Amino acid sequence: MSFFKSIAVSLVVACAGLVPSAFAQTAKPPVSFDLSALDKSVNPCTDFYQFACGGWRANNPIPGDKSRWGRFNELDEYNLSLLHNILETAAKPGKHSALEQKVGNFYSACMDEKTVDALGVKPLQPEFDRIAKISDKAGVMQQIAHMQQEGMSALFGFGSSTDMHDSNQMIASLGQGGLTLPDRDYYIKDDPKSKETREKYVEHVQKMFELAGEKPEQAASDAKNVLALETRLAQAAMDRVAMRDPKNRDHRMTVADLDKLAPNFGFPAYFVATGAPKFNDLNVSTPDYFKTISAQFETVPIAEWKTYLRWKVLKSNAGLLSKPFVDENFRFSGQYMNGAKEIEVRWKRCTRMTDSNLGEALGPIYVEQTFGADGKERMLKLVEAVEAAMGKNIQQLDWMSDTTKQDALKKLKSIVNNIGYPDKWKDYSKVTITRNDLFNNVRAADRFESARNRNKIGKPTDKKEWGMTPPTVNAYYRGSMNDINFPAGILQPPFFSRTADDAVNFGGIGAVIGHELTHGFDDQGRKFDASGNLRDWWTASDGKEFEHRTDCIVDEYANFTAVKDDKGEVKLNGKLTLGENTADNGGVKIAYMALMDMLGASGTKQVEGFTPAQRFFIGYGQVWCQNVTDQYSRVAALTDPHSPGKYRVNGVVSNSVEFQKAFACKPGDPMVRENACHVW
Ligand SMILES: [Zn+2]
Repeated sequence: MSFFKSIAVSLVVACAGLVPSAFAQTAKPPVSFDLSALDKSVNPCTDFYQFACGGWRANNPIPGDKSRWGRFNELDEYNLSLLHNILETAAKPGKHSALEQKVGNFYSACMDEKTVDALGVKPLQPEFDRIAKISDKAGVMQQIAHMQQEGMSALFGFGSSTDMHDSNQMIASLGQGGLTLPDRDYYIKDDPKSKETREKYVEHVQKMFELAGEKPEQAASDAKNVLALETRLAQAAMDRVAMRDPKNRDHRMTVADLDKLAPNFGFPAYFVATGAPKFNDLNVSTPDYFKTISAQFETVPIAEWKTYLRWKVLKSNAGLLSKPFVDENFRFSGQYMNGAKEIEVRWKRCTRMTDSNLGEALGPIYVEQTFGADGKERMLKLVEAVEAAMGKNIQQLDWMSDTTKQDALKKLKSIVNNIGYPDKWKDYSKVTITRNDLFNNVRAADRFESARNRNKIGKPTDKKEWGMTPPTVNAYYRGSMNDINFPAGILQPPFFSRTADDAVNFGGIGAVIGHELTHGFDDQGRKFDASGNLRDWWTASDGKEFEHRTDCIVDEYANFTAVKDDKGEVKLNGKLTLGENTADNGGVKIAYMALMDMLGASGTKQVEGFTPAQRFFIGYGQVWCQNVTDQYSRVAALTDPHSPGKYRVNGVVSNSVEFQKAFACKPGDPMVRENACHVW
């Protein structure tokens, strides 16, 4: 339910005058409204995306180290360069705060490529030794518990989650997992591209095992075993579209029930091994998965499980090892899967790694340096304006009964707005970070995070906790918390600018706010009530009408082509992207209403030759200017609930009467859909 798929990117906000200037490599911040991004040779009513972004796309080819390059990636890079400055300063000898010392040490150890290279695969030896000693199924489960505590994924996921029926309470939670390729389809589908991907994957696994010291023959047979085992997991897994429905993931049971459902795992002993607080009940999001894999746990030889675990150790940590591992990992995951040409320079990787491992230690420093005191206030005003428009919009809907409207308004009123950064930071004081041991630094951070997560089981929900770090250029809505969250990282151009006119800011951050609010009322969000509990508050006929209207969105987007190349054509998955598309359409509509309410009589004054309505839509469109590799587009079509930039723009404006009015489009124009979709 985020604004877009993050690529493990971390960034920083720049407020004028506060940008550190000591480092020459600080990237240029993007601008809010870019006339040079336009392609004026195209009629906006024919292809608005090309009109808004054609110039930008022609002038901004994908850099070699990226698989996707858009205007928010420009912001990412800018933020990354600011974080880099913070870390370079913190890593230098001198007087530092405890937090600076910690992130500085982490970054230094990561940048110490010489030490990392000299170690080769050595950091993994203790894990390989543990796995070698395993002699029975119980030992496999003990190792899985151990690896999960150390931050390495294997077979399934275990931790705490909000109780779907009592959002004030955290409960234990078990879910499917354990695949390496980005989706179960890669293992199951028989089209030429999926087959090719599996072949390349086996080659990659073999290569990695060889680098870790195995003989080629052994490595080849191990690689085949890994694919076979992961294919079994994929066949047992619930697909992404089914996973979207919270009802499909709502299966509360006792540990005894689970033990009956999946007897071969020995879950009671496993839970003890994880170090989790004792509990009787848990949610098992995908019972069928555990039932199926339990049966296989009996039939698949132990040697194969051990091979799989060694692979997961190797792959989870490839980025922390010496150059040959890093390069091979990139060759498959970055280059083959996503189409990037070269790996990012080390400082970028180390900066991202510091943000993802110690995000709330780096976050306070970043916020202090970049996020002005008035940032929160100004943003809150915008949020309130869009919330007011959403309330007005709900009241005006002609398809919804008053009964459902009252509950919808109640839910809207209950939404909590979180802006910038958390009120309370995580306490890393017990996490030991040294200056020369990248591998163990990451272990320490992972151990801290998984223990923190497990220890929430049985406790009240901490609704103040954030799911993204402050420098992140993204935003999100949480159904169980009924809150919208805007990290400081997104509160800058091209989304928000202190110097831009309201029209442009409402097209940017205003549409983001509207998007997150609408998530509370999309195919997933509408199933949660004002308190964040799974409860149907819709009248039967309103629920039916909602689904009829969302079917229109499903059909609209399912007709869009994600990629068409020599490997064939891939369309978008209308059901997978339904929630995000609903949020985009609703978000733009209410942000526009909020703008018009604010402008009142001054709503027609032109700036740079465009009316405020036109500037609003251009501002919205330009957030999505991007160039993407075909490889990335293929992976995203299968895994990303967000549509590509082109359709986030054209898919929305072609439903929008306000857009069509702003640009005087006529019936029959491509940007005027005959059967326009309107949910919110
Ligand atoms: Zn979203």
